[in-house]
Amino acid sequence: MARGETQKLSFTVPIFEPHPPQYYIRAVSDSWLHAEAFYCISFHNLALPQARTSHTELLDLKPLPVTALGNNIYEALYNFSHFNPIQTQIFHILYHTDNNVLLGAPTGSGKTISAELAMLHLFNTQSDMKVVYIAPLKAIVRERMNDWKDRLVSQLGKEMVEMTGDYTPDLMALLSADIIISTPEKWDGISRNWHSRNYVKKVGLMILDEIHLLGAERGPILEVIVSRMRYISSQTERAVRFIGLSTALANAGDLADWLGVGEIGLFNFKPSVRPVPLEVHIQGYPGKFYCPRMNSMNKPAYAAICTHSPTKPVLIFVSSRRQTRLTALDLIQFAASDETPRQFLGMPEEDLQMVLSQVTDQNLRQTLQFGIGLHHAGLNDKDRSLVEELFANNKIQVLVCTSTLAWGVNLPAHLVIIKGTEYYDGKTKRYVDFPITDILQMMGRAGRPQYDQHGKAVILVHEPKKSFYKKFLYEPFPVESSLRDQLHDHFNAEIVSGTIFHKEDAVHYLSWTYLFRRLAINPAYYGLEDTEAEGLSSYLSRLVQNTFEDLEDSGCVKMTEDSVEPTMLGTIASQYYLSYVTVSMFGSNIGPDTSLEVFLHILSGASEYDELPVRHNEDNHNEALSQRVRFAVDNNRLDDPHVKANLLFQAHFSRLDLPISDYVTDLKSVLDQSIRIIQAMIDICANSGWLSSSITCMHLLQMVMQGLWFEQDSAFWMLPCMNNDLLGMLRARGISTVQQLLDIPKENLQTVIGNFPVSRLHQDLQRFPRIQVKLRLQRRDIDGENSLTLNIRMDKMNSWKNTSRAFALRFPKIKDEAWWLVLGNTNTSELYALKRISFSDRLNTHMELPSGITTFQGMKLVVVSDCYLGFEQEHSIEALVEQSVI
Ligand code: ADP
Ligand code: MN
Repeated sequence: MARGETQKLSFTVPIFEPHPPQYYIRAVSDSWLHAEAFYCISFHNLALPQARTSHTELLDLKPLPVTALGNNIYEALYNFSHFNPIQTQIFHILYHTDNNVLLGAPTGSGKTISAELAMLHLFNTQSDMKVVYIAPLKAIVRERMNDWKDRLVSQLGKEMVEMTGDYTPDLMALLSADIIISTPEKWDGISRNWHSRNYVKKVGLMILDEIHLLGAERGPILEVIVSRMRYISSQTERAVRFIGLSTALANAGDLADWLGVGEIGLFNFKPSVRPVPLEVHIQGYPGKFYCPRMNSMNKPAYAAICTHSPTKPVLIFVSSRRQTRLTALDLIQFAASDETPRQFLGMPEEDLQMVLSQVTDQNLRQTLQFGIGLHHAGLNDKDRSLVEELFANNKIQVLVCTSTLAWGVNLPAHLVIIKGTEYYDGKTKRYVDFPITDILQMMGRAGRPQYDQHGKAVILVHEPKKSFYKKFLYEPFPVESSLRDQLHDHFNAEIVSGTIFHKEDAVHYLSWTYLFRRLAINPAYYGLEDTEAEGLSSYLSRLVQNTFEDLEDSGCVKMTEDSVEPTMLGTIASQYYLSYVTVSMFGSNIGPDTSLEVFLHILSGASEYDELPVRHNEDNHNEALSQRVRFAVDNNRLDDPHVKANLLFQAHFSRLDLPISDYVTDLKSVLDQSIRIIQAMIDICANSGWLSSSITCMHLLQMVMQGLWFEQDSAFWMLPCMNNDLLGMLRARGISTVQQLLDIPKENLQTVIGNFPVSRLHQDLQRFPRIQVKLRLQRRDIDGENSLTLNIRMDKMNSWKNTSRAFALRFPKIKDEAWWLVLGNTNTSELYALKRISFSDRLNTHMELPSGITTFQGMKLVVVSDCYLGFEQEHSIEALVEQSVI
């Protein structure tokens, strides 16, 4: 706890009927005299949401056989004979009508298959239209991809594409896709420009999975894409069907209203209607401190296995990687003292040895011997899928995992144990509760359809929270909007796309949102005091005004009396999907001659890195790294995510070994995000006409792609076969760039590399493009104005490099090569025009020379690679003009 810093405490207080006039809250320190805070909450104007929740009765219908689909091929998609009671009840609406549907039902109710019914209906009735499936987590997207690849793609011959941070399909794939699976962010980025993207208008069905996450951190994006799709549908007059899937909801009516779901499309089943019923036990533990308390829960966890699931699969959710190991080791201990050390192991010794020989992670190898698997993001992909397979096939009975497993892989168990409901939040440096949605999801993994009569969940909580969990886990879930605090980027995007042009447009835009519906119903939550029409309208107009003013202060928009226009910064923020805070910071920190060091600092400062985790004790690793890197970082803020980002970048450029495997994962995500951030920085430089800064920033991108320093490292290190001897030899012969090497015919190559094997070098060289640029000037009269056009022809001379994949050893993702054509003046450091291009064999393009220029002295076309160091080509325009004019 740092001195002088405000401490944030959060806890839940029940409110009893009838409401008292106020609550007094007094916080008293248990160790410091006079350390007290006092707070009064008035209930005077408190308007609470309706207490009554309306539920859909589950009817006692005869389960519908899959033959009800009336289509042999569709029936073959399912490995069961009958739909479950929930599916049976909503079958008709989903499969035979076009109604929008909101399906609230507990986890494990088979909602995915319900959504498939709506997809099959679309395939039957409008086969030219597309399905968009939105899942708020990448892990769910992955799961859907794998499952649907086997069924809808292989068996029905549908085309499917994935859109996530990892993957962006090309336009052709998008146009021909029947099914698009996307995260909310990706669909937001794409549908922002729906006017110019025809496939967005071809969406006939939108499925929103886990839509109750609307109230969570990334909920506003979900809120925006749905609101936008509804708006598009109203503009194009082509109906888009919406299917929302969620857990049982407390306020389903508002959500339904917002989704455009009528009375017959709304299904909100009780939490208790699960096809495989859940038996939940909540046990409280007193320990005041986290680690000892977690420790004290291991024995009860073991006891729970022995009582509830001695032979069937068990999932144990814990809060950290460290906890997966500690918990597993204790379980092994307890099993050993029961003289059944291998009770969890479900395979013979030979198989075990086979398995162990494939495992990389030391800790995992240790626990697997006793039939316990570990599962967390720190494992490599191979280890992780191995563990999943072992667990799914009952070769190991117990899997200790972090919360991410709840959402991703479909690995149900007979018993789920949630060991502790808090996790350590590195950002605020304290233990915080998992969102209830996560707990519900973890619990939901209990009970295997077709195997279990019952699922069992044991939740081990901190004693004081026991009654809170008792209440909320059985209650339907209330969903509120979080859009209010995140309006800036969304308004900015709509201002850029032209949807919002006036203040009134913004107010109108809000009326499409879920926020708007909740405002009137739970006003206190949103700080609205007067719920009369006038009060509401002034609240909205104030909200719009404040947001516009913030955007104007950040340089993203320009306001006049009542209209609003995007600026260059605002446009770039929307185009690259960056926060307005980030581009604003770029706008005020980047100048005409910004150095590499400063660029690195600015890049690391982007608010996109706010969420980079700095875990317990990582400030020590950061301190150690800070002594080994080239540019100094702020040593007083070693626990700051931006400082860590900076260190990770520098470690990447210097190819330093990272201290722990978490840093490898973190570096991957830092690099991945950096591409679009740097591209935005380049656009800002180019739009400002700054040649030198633009080029420096391009070098920064090359450094990220190659994991090398510009100039300080030889670009030859891009070649895998490079060593110091070879480097020395090349240098001695005055060869300093890969391009020069590429120009040497293969027969002559041996003469410059001594006795180094020529075939190895040649093989590496084949991975790089050899580009030839041809320029021609063309004089044109446009409206009596004499203008000069530069025609550019680019050829890839080495035909054997027939891929445009960038060759980047140290970059963790696949990326295509691209080039920048920079027209500028190196004498004055002015940039006139910038073009980004990519091609496979050949490309013709052109750029206009600036008009009204009297001298071409110093004017050049610089061709810069976006991934290879030292591949720059400078072509003098001055010389070209002289040749062609005379
Ligand atoms: P939800 O999305 O409601 O949490 P899922 O769609 O993930 O539930 O389904 C949970 C499990 O139930 C899946 O493994 C699915 O294959 C299975 N399932 C769904 N419908 C049926 C059915 N009619 N009969 C048997 N198993 C089913
Ligand atoms: Mn689901």
